[in-house]
Amino acid sequence: MNVLVINCGSSSLKFQLINTETEKVIASGICDRIGIDGSVLYYKTPDGKKIEKKEEMPHHTKAVEMVLEALLNKENGAVSSLDEIKAIGHRVVHGGEFFKESVLINDVVIQHIKECSDLAPLHNPAHLMGIEACQAKMPKTPMVAVFDTAFHQTMPPRAYIYGVPYEWYEKHKVRRYGFHGTSHKYVSQKTAEFLGLDYYNSKIIVCHLGNGSSISAIKNGKCVDTSMGLTPLEGLIMGTRSGDLDPAILEYISKREDLDIQSILNILNKKSGVLGISGLSSDFRDLLDADLGGNERAKLARSAFAYRVLKYVGAYCAVMNGVDAVSFCAGVGENAKFIRGMIVEHLEFLGVKLDVEANNVCGEEAIISTPDSKVRVCVIPTNEELVIARDTKTIVSQL
Ligand code: ADP
Repeated sequence: MNVLVINCGSSSLKFQLINTETEKVIASGICDRIGIDGSVLYYKTPDGKKIEKKEEMPHHTKAVEMVLEALLNKENGAVSSLDEIKAIGHRVVHGGEFFKESVLINDVVIQHIKECSDLAPLHNPAHLMGIEACQAKMPKTPMVAVFDTAFHQTMPPRAYIYGVPYEWYEKHKVRRYGFHGTSHKYVSQKTAEFLGLDYYNSKIIVCHLGNGSSISAIKNGKCVDTSMGLTPLEGLIMGTRSGDLDPAILEYISKREDLDIQSILNILNKKSGVLGISGLSSDFRDLLDADLGGNERAKLARSAFAYRVLKYVGAYCAVMNGVDAVSFCAGVGENAKFIRGMIVEHLEFLGVKLDVEANNVCGEEAIISTPDSKVRVCVIPTNEELVIARDTKTIVSQL
């Protein structure tokens, strides 16, 4: 079955056409600068050619139209008729407490996604635009919503409740939700499969380290804790996000820098993390170069990042009363051997031994601990689009 996977942002639309039998990407691309001057479609054809098409895309409906045109193109398209696209899977960031798994999109689902918009004001409205645009162009094609929050819905109340008045939870749904759920689900399952563990009788920690980073504890196939919270701002130090911090800093800085809450939150989301500490870059490749060149703040940013990951790994071992495997994924986790090394070398207390040679791996599945290591450490490239395609196929096949 061919499934079109759509990931809509406020000004972009990423897509992949996936054959769910072979699990291969047939064609993919991105519409950039939707609603902004200079919109462009980048399209990777089935034979790997990269095509760029500049055309104004004032709204998401036009973007979807261009995607479908590209996929249908006689010369370098991927299908000869839209009937060959059997279903569409949409990534949706926030499903609140409504969605514990992926669902077939209908009017009630759309209403619930709208109701979660307050919790993800930048993301959910954009996803809804993508869903509506697809419905306009392909009204008969079934569509499925796959939520970043769903996998984490198995957390027990003691893990998701904050130490604040309970009424905030009851009235305003203030609680930990967690994000990157499709990645944590895929990587934890893949880790078990790769290591020959019984997923439903295992303890796995997944470190999703990218520009946005989060970590989760998965016990017996269920997420029991994760580092992101009500929003993706909590937890690890990230590319540009602060992660955990003392909430009193907001008032303190607001007075001293004469900033309102909105401006401070903007800084915490976009100008903090390793970018804020280093004053240089959010990209770990730049930080490594600067660190090797003797830049002390780049060194501090890298070590503070690794230290925060280490603290969470320790905490999640305690939460699960042990761990069988720790996996690294996403841009940094899959590629940055130095960062992995800085974390793993401190896991000696768990009986972990880093295989320095194996740790040279970049973007491939690998075990990076030695054969006698008590806990196995892996690199498992994530694939969120494949999870979306798989879930979509499963749901649509039952119709
Ligand atoms: P997101 O999806 O959150 O935007 P990614 O998972 O794509 O982020 O990760 C992007 C980040 O991965 C980059 O900002 C960069 O810091 C890091 N990265 C990518 N490739 C490498 C590499 N070869 N070495 C070190 N870091 C890398």
